[in-house]
Amino acid sequence: MNTIDKILENLNGQQLKAVTTTEGYVRVIAGAGSGKTKALTSRYAYLVEGLGMDASNILCVTFTNKAAGEMRNRVKRIAGNENDYSYITTYHGFCVKVLREDINKIQYPRQFVIMDVEDQKTVLRDVYGELGITSKNFTFKQAIKHIEMRKSSLDYLECIAENKEIPISNGADYLLDKVFVKYLQKQQRNFALDFSDLINFTLYIFDNHADVLEKWQNRMYYIQVDETQDSSPKQFYLVDLLSRVHKNLFVVGDPDQTIYEWRGAKPELLVDFDKQFPRAQTIVMNQNYSSTPNILNLGNHIIKNNKIRIDKDMVTANSPGVDAVHYHAKNDSEEGLWIAAEIKRLVKENNKYSDFAILYRANHVSRVIEQSLIKEGIPYSVWGGIRFFERREIKDVLSYLRLVVFGDDLSFLRVINTPSRGLGKMFIDDIKQIATRCDISLFEALEKKLPTLPPGRRGAAKFVNLIKAFRKRKDEISVSGLVKEILDNTGLTAMYRADGDEDRLDNIKELQNSIINLENDDAGKLTLENYLQEIALYTDMDLDNDKNDRVKLMTIHTAKGLEFPYVFLCGFTDGVLPGYMSIKERGERAIEEERRLTYVAITRAEKAFYMTESEGLNFRTGMSKHPSRFLFEIRENLYVRQGILPVEIIIQAKAQIHLENEKLNSPQIYEVGDVVSFNIGGEGKIIAKDDRRRVYIIELGKINSVRPIRYGWQGMKKVEKQAMTNDQ
Ligand code: ATP
Ligand code: MG
Repeated sequence: MNTIDKILENLNGQQLKAVTTTEGYVRVIAGAGSGKTKALTSRYAYLVEGLGMDASNILCVTFTNKAAGEMRNRVKRIAGNENDYSYITTYHGFCVKVLREDINKIQYPRQFVIMDVEDQKTVLRDVYGELGITSKNFTFKQAIKHIEMRKSSLDYLECIAENKEIPISNGADYLLDKVFVKYLQKQQRNFALDFSDLINFTLYIFDNHADVLEKWQNRMYYIQVDETQDSSPKQFYLVDLLSRVHKNLFVVGDPDQTIYEWRGAKPELLVDFDKQFPRAQTIVMNQNYSSTPNILNLGNHIIKNNKIRIDKDMVTANSPGVDAVHYHAKNDSEEGLWIAAEIKRLVKENNKYSDFAILYRANHVSRVIEQSLIKEGIPYSVWGGIRFFERREIKDVLSYLRLVVFGDDLSFLRVINTPSRGLGKMFIDDIKQIATRCDISLFEALEKKLPTLPPGRRGAAKFVNLIKAFRKRKDEISVSGLVKEILDNTGLTAMYRADGDEDRLDNIKELQNSIINLENDDAGKLTLENYLQEIALYTDMDLDNDKNDRVKLMTIHTAKGLEFPYVFLCGFTDGVLPGYMSIKERGERAIEEERRLTYVAITRAEKAFYMTESEGLNFRTGMSKHPSRFLFEIRENLYVRQGILPVEIIIQAKAQIHLENEKLNSPQIYEVGDVVSFNIGGEGKIIAKDDRRRVYIIELGKINSVRPIRYGWQGMKKVEKQAMTNDQ
């Protein structure tokens, strides 16, 4: 068989059409697992093998690095390994290529630095220090959001290119703006570009240097975009611009899988593609190849509840397969262990560990799963993240605990300056020498040195006293109590709070919660020594086992576009999925996006799909956990339940969901200038709205005070105009 036949074999009619319609503007809209990416990669191979195009003249972009890597692999399998596939990439990856060639047009060196989120936080840490602000003012997340907002227009680039000053607003955002300007100055000094800059610089250069734009337009004969539903207007403009010479743009996507709206994705770009390009051809695929009907039905059923969508049902010819499963556990460790047991059972039936993916909405959920897998000796890796017990904040807390019990040097070195006590390298070296000389531990050496220290070194004495106090306390209070005292008294919590990285605080809360659970199981008998022994298992891990045959843990966002034989969606708890913070920030729209996330999670599964959740406390709300509202949207004959879900929990969950829905749909949207009256009496006038904190600023005439009152609070009503005049 020749290569072209090989490329075209095994494609269905619609895919064949997509592959061979090489010229012009072409759109493929299709549901999950319908072979969109397969069509796109086959088309790429067809352009190379069938039309003789060089890989350097075809741009092929998708949303994540993982997906780009997967695409490159698929193309390699069809069109061979010898071509340079570096233009199969992400939007950002492509921008880096343009800038490495042409950034000198705006006097930047080609060897500019690329900043990831961690680098951004490092810069912000500096900026916060210089401006004397902490996360009490706003978190890093909020600062980064503001920076991105300021960078949503290209004005700042004009200022950079023309050496002009960046304007600072005098309004409510004054301080955030100052952060922005300082951040920018630090970036410029290091010729460092963050992710927003990559695309902004590229567009700016294209807009202002016609020769550069033409060069790239001429170079890219064919452009293909996967996962188009998650493109932002700027990203889409980039490919639109590049396609204007050869006019070959091929876009594929599934509006139901839009999961980056919170970051500016505009599914309308795909949905209205034919309006923007009236001669565009549209190809629709509705056969699903990847999942069993049982899985597909579940996905179809859930996504139907979204109001903003184009209805399309997927069908499949695959055999029905096994039922989807919901497992309800009494507590989270039961949830994790059940998953581990199920994996072990299936591995005995000749499946590989690498056939399993465990997906979750939020990183901290991985803790209980990781513990269960380790306990059961199941090899795993965390994709696109760090193992829970290797995260910095977790190591910090555990090191304090270890120092209290064992007084070991490793823990000592980790925490002596965390948070900073102004004890520099020279000081530590000195301690090390004393320790070697007297053959004692570093902690003992420090104790020995205390009397000789000048009064300016109070940090050291304080540290020694703290640890000694903890040693006494550990026999008086519970482990969780001690952890709390450590967090408060050492300043760890304050440090992480000042740091503004919310994920770290979430992880610490998750750790505290897990200790409380252990204590409850143990009827309060858990000692610190026992706890550390238990935890040692998770922290001194032997990572040598087979790298490839492992269970994969990742967030749903990371799993997009990929498929796995067995998928567990764990932590399927209301407040986690849908996420409490997203709902708080974006209301009903967030719920729809979270529902699409659930749809994405379900449709990752080929053979079997499990959703699991457990009882316990939600650390964000402090309330009892209950299953996700999405679970109650699924007809019960579409899955089987294992474990017992008590009726009281169902009733409680439904009542809670109902209450929240009412709040979400509450028509009480007030405006500045409205006069409101309170249930308990009294009146006030809204003088401002703070969307960031989601509060009205209300002036209370009677007590002559101004207060923030949260949006959606049911205790006040608008006073109609007439009543107002009567009052006055
Ligand atoms: P997603 O919406 O998740 O991005 P997709 O539409 O891109 O999915 P693919 O990943 O291309 O779908 O394909 C899903 C699975 O179906 C893959 O394993 C692929 O090999 C298989 N597949 C696609 N088309 C066919 C076909 N015509 N015959 C057999 N298998 C197919
Ligand atoms: Mg795909």
